[in-house]
Amino acid sequence: MGRLEQRVALITGSGSGIGRAAAIMFAKEGAKVAVVDLDLLAAQETARRITSGGGQAVAIRCDVSDAQDVESAVKQAVEHYGKMDILFNNAGVVLPKYLEAVEEAEWDHLFDVNVKGCFLFVKYSLAHIRATKGTILNMGSMTGLAGQRKNPVYSATKGAVIALTRSLAVDLAPEGVRVNAICPAGVLTPLLENWFSQQANPDEFRRGQDLSHLLGRTATPDEIASVAVFLASDEASFITGQAIPVEGGATLGYGVGPKA
Ligand code: ADP
Repeated sequence: MGRLEQRVALITGSGSGIGRAAAIMFAKEGAKVAVVDLDLLAAQETARRITSGGGQAVAIRCDVSDAQDVESAVKQAVEHYGKMDILFNNAGVVLPKYLEAVEEAEWDHLFDVNVKGCFLFVKYSLAHIRATKGTILNMGSMTGLAGQRKNPVYSATKGAVIALTRSLAVDLAPEGVRVNAICPAGVLTPLLENWFSQQANPDEFRRGQDLSHLLGRTATPDEIASVAVFLASDEASFITGQAIPVEGGATLGYGVGPKA
């Protein structure tokens, strides 16, 4: 028996990276997955990988920052599977720029996708999640708990996601609905590879990224997805309102000096 048997999970941004890894792992644990992404072809590819392995998946195109799209995506998922147990707000965009270089439209876009996207999906899913006493997961980030160079706007959005997670957990706990956030540091997805390749010295930059984690490397998407499975499962039945760091010791830098 899988740990998510009989559960219906809607995962946003599951056409790529962590979201795709989570969709595949949730399905392996028995969940029926609604693969939601702005990029329909990418969502269909994730769904294809799940169904070709014997799992259940449906691909849905949706811009998480658009209320009509979100309402429609939730409706499609619930019509397809009859219910919703797990909402994983994972879709996100990054903006590796110093603040003075950020345009107002870029700020708005990051908050629209990373923060408003969570708000809209919770708003339109809540009746279904309540009905199943389900659970909500939000993609936070270590940057929402600690600072990071050249990443102020993304950090601000993730701080907002973490605060939203905690207050929602307070509101929904009496109804048996748990709400948690996952806070990764570096995760080796196409997004990070792309970021490396844009640096003046990609190899040196990659090495610096690796060493900023005590474990000496960035995470694989599966190492984040496995925590999402745990938090969504009954194994985490007494965990709510938490922002769980999955960061290879990246925030313990203060304790790391030259070896004595
Ligand atoms: P990560 O490292 O977070 O996994 P990726 O860029 O690999 O980063 O994955 C993020 C996913 O989120 C992509 O599949 C992307 O298409 C999706 N996404 C980005 N913006 C939106 C949006 N507005 N609505 C829905 N999905 C989005």
